Formats: sequence, C-alpha cells, structure tokens
Amino acid sequence: MLDVIIIGSGPAGLSAAIYAVRANLQVLVVEKEYMGTGQVAESGRVDNYLGLNGLEGYDLGERFRKHAEELGVEFQEGEAVFFEKYGQNWKIQLDTGEIIEARAVIYAAGAFHRRLGLPEETAFAGKGISYCAVCDGALYQDKTVAVIGGGDTALDDASYLSGICQKVYLIHRRREFRGSAGTLQKLQATENVEIITEAQAIGIAGAKRVEELRLDNGRRLEVQGIFIAVGMIPSTDKIKDLVELDGQGYVVADESGKTCAEGFFAAGDIRTKPLRQIVTAAADGANAAMSAREYVSHME
Ligand code: NAP
Repeated sequence: MLDVIIIGSGPAGLSAAIYAVRANLQVLVVEKEYMGTGQVAESGRVDNYLGLNGLEGYDLGERFRKHAEELGVEFQEGEAVFFEKYGQNWKIQLDTGEIIEARAVIYAAGAFHRRLGLPEETAFAGKGISYCAVCDGALYQDKTVAVIGGGDTALDDASYLSGICQKVYLIHRRREFRGSAGTLQKLQATENVEIITEAQAIGIAGAKRVEELRLDNGRRLEVQGIFIAVGMIPSTDKIKDLVELDGQGYVVADESGKTCAEGFFAAGDIRTKPLRQIVTAAADGANAAMSAREYVSHME
C-alpha cells in the first residue's frame, strides 16, 4: 500500500514527491505523458524562478525531474481516470485498467490550453495552428505568424517568435493586456511585431495549411502560423464529483492543499489561487506533501 499517490509530474507534483519521499513516505508519481514535466516544458526562458534564472522551461523541468529521481521517487505512466474512497484509503484506477491503492492522493494534474472556438481550429491543427510557441516556433523561421491572446503566455510567445519569424502579429480582443507591462513595452519597441488590439479572430483560411487569419475589424492577415494563447482550463474533469470546484473549474483548497474530500489534496495550477507560477506550484507541492504526511501519520 502506498502512502501517497501523486497525480501529475509538473513542478507541483515533483515538489510534492520530493517533500513526501524525504518525509519517508511511500510515494508513486503517475504521469499522463512519459517523462513529462507539464507546462514548464513548454515555457520559454524562465527568468522569475529564484536562483535558477535564464534556463529554458524544458531544462528547468528536467532539473526538477532529475532531483526527484535522485531521491528515489518512482514514476508510472498512465492517466488516473477514477478515484474512490474505500474505508480510510483511496483506490485509483488508471486508463490501463490498473488499480492502485494509496492512503492519500495529491492531485497535481495541471491545466491544458483553452481553444479559441473557431470551427477551423481543429481542421488546421498541426497545419499552422499551434498552442506552444516554444515547441513549434522553429517551424516558422522567417515566416509571418499571429499570436492570439493578451496574457503573459501570449506576450512571451510573441516575444519568443519575434526572434525567429519575419513578422509577428499580436492580436488581443481588448485594449488592456493582462500580461506583464514590461514585456508589452519591449514588444511595442520590437520592429517586426505589430500589435492589434480590440480585434477578434473570426476565421482561418487556407488550401491545405493556414494562409489567412480574418479579424472582426475587417483585416485579413496573410500568415503561415497562428499561435493560440488564450488561457488554460484546469484538468479537473475526473474529480468534479469528488471535490468542490470554483466557477472556473479550479479545486477549492487553501494553501494546505486540503480539499473537502479527506485524504485528497490539490496542488499547483488546478487549485484556486491568485498567482499561477512555477514557484507557487512548487510551494503548493511542498505544502500538500506535508498535509498528506500529517494525514497519513494520524491514520497509523
Ligand atoms: P490568461 O492570463 O488567462 O490570459 C488569457 C488571455 O486570452 C486573456 O488576455 C484573454 O482575454 C484572452 N482570451 C481568452 N479567451 C479568449 C477568446 N475566446 N478569444 C480571444 N481572446 C481570449 O492566460 P495565460 O496567458 O496562459 O497565463 C496563465 C497564467 O500563467 C497567468 O497567471 C500568467 O501570469 C501566468 N504566466 C506567467 C508567465 C511569466 O511570468 N513569464 C508566462 C506565462 C504564463 P481578456 O484579457 O480579454 O480576458
């Protein structure tokens, strides 16, 4: 019987694993993607993680993982699809059908990219539409692309792509941006970036791949790539009947990670909180692991 099963291997899950294993708990991390480290792997250069500034997100994620592996954390690939409390313990069913038992669960499954909602979005997936500039940006060397969104992801993506592409349009539906004012200022001063505000994408056209993006202000932009950065949706679908969720689908839990389900803890981007960053995810993981340790110790 495991003490703690951790769902997700992003910064929250890995941090939880490190704290749990150092507290002598029997731990297993279940990850949907083999060797995945979550959204951090898709981030560009990370300059706001204390003491490890200037690393690419992928490299930072690899460091987190290596740290957990060096401490003996074990990993298993699979998607946790069903959770059931029986007596004091939890049964977790994976998509493979396997059932794993644990005294406590730390759920750190993160969030996924919100879709723009255009009918053509699916048809052009992988044919000019992308949700990850760092993953796909190199495919658009010297090409013209559009980035849609007004948060930090959109600003970072536009900044990253301006160093690769011939031209980058940044399109946001409002005048004010949610993302960092500093990054916006840099973009405004970047020659190959054109910022278009108060405009919505209403159509995508192209013979086989993306060729044109149509906006509701009448403009038709000739682009070869469209990077959609309109926010994230928490991966809470599998636990929506188990724990309380807020209006946007995030798990209601304070810093301790405790949810309304006993022995079920939430950590990282899936939790209600004002700031979703690598550092807050890592802090969540540590807190949830300590909460799980306390919970398990009272069971024995
Ligand atoms: P976000 O902050 O939620 O921003 C999403 C953006 O997409 C908003 O500007 C929103 O417009 C726009 N949007 C949403 N639905 C849309 C639609 N259907 N059509 C057009 N636009 C739409 O998401 P995010 O940028 O992914 O950031 C998520 C969190 O991660 C934030 O807390 C952010 O600070 C953090 N983050 C930080 C960094 C960094 O520090 N370097 C990098 C990436 C992300 P409105 O503004 O009009 O709502």
